[in-house]
Amino acid sequence: MSQRPSSWVPTYCGLRADRPVHHCGIVGVVGVERVADVIARALMALQHRGEEGAGIVVSDGEVLHAVRTAGLVSDLLDHHRDELARLHGRVGVGHVRYSTTGAWDLRNVQPLVVECQSGMWALAHNGNLTNAGALRSQWQSRGAIFQTGTDTEVLLHMIAHPRFARQPQPVVAALQALRGAFSMVLVHKDRLIAARDRHGFRPLALGRLGSGYIVASETCAFPQVGATFLREIEPGEVLVWEGCELRQYALTARPARGGQCVFEHIYFARPDSVLFGRNVHEVRVALGRQLAEERPVKADVVVPIPDSGLPAAMGFAQASGIPMDLGFIRNHYIGRSFIRPTAEDRARVADLKLAVVEHVVRGRRVVVVDDSLVRGTTVQRRVQTLRKAGAIEVHLRIASPPIRWPCWFGIDFPTRGELIAADRTEEEIARIVGVDSLGYLSLEGLARVLNGGRDYCFGCFTGRYPERVAGTPSKLAFEVTVAKGTCGSI
Ligand code: SF4
Repeated sequence: MSQRPSSWVPTYCGLRADRPVHHCGIVGVVGVERVADVIARALMALQHRGEEGAGIVVSDGEVLHAVRTAGLVSDLLDHHRDELARLHGRVGVGHVRYSTTGAWDLRNVQPLVVECQSGMWALAHNGNLTNAGALRSQWQSRGAIFQTGTDTEVLLHMIAHPRFARQPQPVVAALQALRGAFSMVLVHKDRLIAARDRHGFRPLALGRLGSGYIVASETCAFPQVGATFLREIEPGEVLVWEGCELRQYALTARPARGGQCVFEHIYFARPDSVLFGRNVHEVRVALGRQLAEERPVKADVVVPIPDSGLPAAMGFAQASGIPMDLGFIRNHYIGRSFIRPTAEDRARVADLKLAVVEHVVRGRRVVVVDDSLVRGTTVQRRVQTLRKAGAIEVHLRIASPPIRWPCWFGIDFPTRGELIAADRTEEEIARIVGVDSLGYLSLEGLARVLNGGRDYCFGCFTGRYPERVAGTPSKLAFEVTVAKGTCGSI
């Protein structure tokens, strides 16, 4: 996804409107002044993780005050400035949303806020809970009334229930019942809680901010607010700040690990972030180098699909010795009104956003490099444009293995039927997208770049997931009526 001055995520994040694969970003801050302002700036840095909704909740020590919008962080700042100025406190949480569960609707925008016997709670979540359906049914059968169509809400019902509320750490006890992917931040009175699931699917980083702390989905948020990166929160780790005191808990005696989402490195995360112990840009360049070694091709120019294919194309050019040039130019001024997570809109946005540079490709053998191939419809269009502009050969190199399986852990991949590589050979895919040759990075090559890949999930490539998933969860499973998007604050 690229940038437009006020409402697009920054170019350097590398994410694209033609991809259905964003998720959410979370921030928690404790022990600093002007906490709403700090959260807003951190959320701006995490905007690439979700453009459908943004929200900030600040605690004054007892009462939680929330401002949310079904839009970008810049919309929150532009349209809710006065409300934000009234958010006073030293602890708060924030969220940018892409709907991996639930419809595009203000009531699903996080942080979710509830009030129960123990007081007010706010919760921001990144990931998908794979047992949320079963838990929701259980709670509904006992009379619980759900307010949102998200998987996240079930945790708040659990925290509020006497069975959990009686425990010394109600949140830790409730989190132990959850399955699937969660990186979470919660605020309650003067308390901030940060937690990561036992497999560590989604990233969550801890930073020092003056005399306080910040927790964020990616480390790219830290320089934006003057924070220093301390470490990543471990899989299965829960941190609880009560005022100035910090306590640490574990969800299991031994974290399960093996679930770090490899797609964070391939595509989602911002290149300047460090996650799962590695800088994202450095990993992407290394994937491009590995790809060039595995799938060499005779060509005159390496052309990245901007922006997400750029680091891999750099690596490919370095390792192959073929010069890289910008054969596609991205239009950064397409309005946000085009961004809707539907196939039709994605195709329309993709067409509007990329223009071919004829002088770079005319009369040349072009090798196009992209980070991944999902449906293949966009690349098909790109190949046609290159040929029309005079490229004599078009070769496609993909810096990740074929995506054959869906994701149940917080990434909105299409169903198997929509994945171009679900049950096709490389030759068949090459024919469909219209290239002279196609080469994917091997699974072994991917693992090699990631130091063996032991701690990673490769489920969408292999169909083998770190955790068993019952049934086939759907994004709108908890929506009885899908309301139209609304905008406002609560
Ligand atoms: S299945 Fe794929 S996208 Fe989902 S968590 Fe695993 S690696 Fe990430």
